[in-house]
Amino acid sequence: MSNLEGSVVRRPLVSGNWKMHHDHIEALHTVRDLGLRLKAPDVGSVDVSIHPPFTDLRTVQTVVEGESIPLALGAQHCYFEDRGAFTGEVSPQMLARLGTRYVVVGHSERRRLFAMSDAAVAATVRAVLRHEMTPICCVGESEAERDAGRTETCLSVQVRAAFNGLSAAQLGGLVVAYEPLWAIGSGRAATAVDAEDACVFIRGLVAELAGAEAASTVRVQYGGSVTAENAAELVSEPDVDGLLVGGASLEAGTFLDIIRAVGGCYRS
Ligand code: PEP
Repeated sequence: MSNLEGSVVRRPLVSGNWKMHHDHIEALHTVRDLGLRLKAPDVGSVDVSIHPPFTDLRTVQTVVEGESIPLALGAQHCYFEDRGAFTGEVSPQMLARLGTRYVVVGHSERRRLFAMSDAAVAATVRAVLRHEMTPICCVGESEAERDAGRTETCLSVQVRAAFNGLSAAQLGGLVVAYEPLWAIGSGRAATAVDAEDACVFIRGLVAELAGAEAASTVRVQYGGSVTAENAAELVSEPDVDGLLVGGASLEAGTFLDIIRAVGGCYRS
């Protein structure tokens, strides 16, 4: 099941989560800069998505499509209904019409700061799938949970709540991001071994829910204080299938270094 030992080689996904940074003018400059530097071999063995704020999506879509930049458009969140009286929300249908390919679901900042429940995460995963986009569903333990030895319990509750009842094809095609809360924006990334252990555990949960084949194809990213310096070590682990990058994705050169570090681990 691993990239190194098994027959299935999962194509890694590097995703840049811009959070609430870059207005649409800054987004335009950043994506153009990235587009000018990104060469075909950089994405020969790596998928790359960028997740700007909602107000930037149309601008980024226009540049990416118009200049044939090999980046997938991603969103950071959406609501689970297609339309209606939900002031302030954006629907998966709207994102799909913009050519959005990936949607981050249940980022810990949504769960913690905006009270997104496990039930809402599950409904959003289904809504994103219904519109033929790929959810990047975030799970991860807090520092207190890790210190109390409850990391696996926490991951188990979140993974089961998000995915229970999905088909093997649905579960096998989506992305899970393991993001320990204590590593996000802290400058304190998980060790490669801890990241691998958690990703293996998550893959095992997917196997329980949807079978071995789904577990062999589901991509499990690591996220939390990823840098150009630690990226290669993290993705060298067989069950870490890419990275969800926050702060280090904001500047084109740094993000490109991360993409190249990941690509370097996958080139045959
Ligand atoms: C994130 O935004 O999901 C994240 C992991 O942020 P950072 O890379 O800044 O820790």
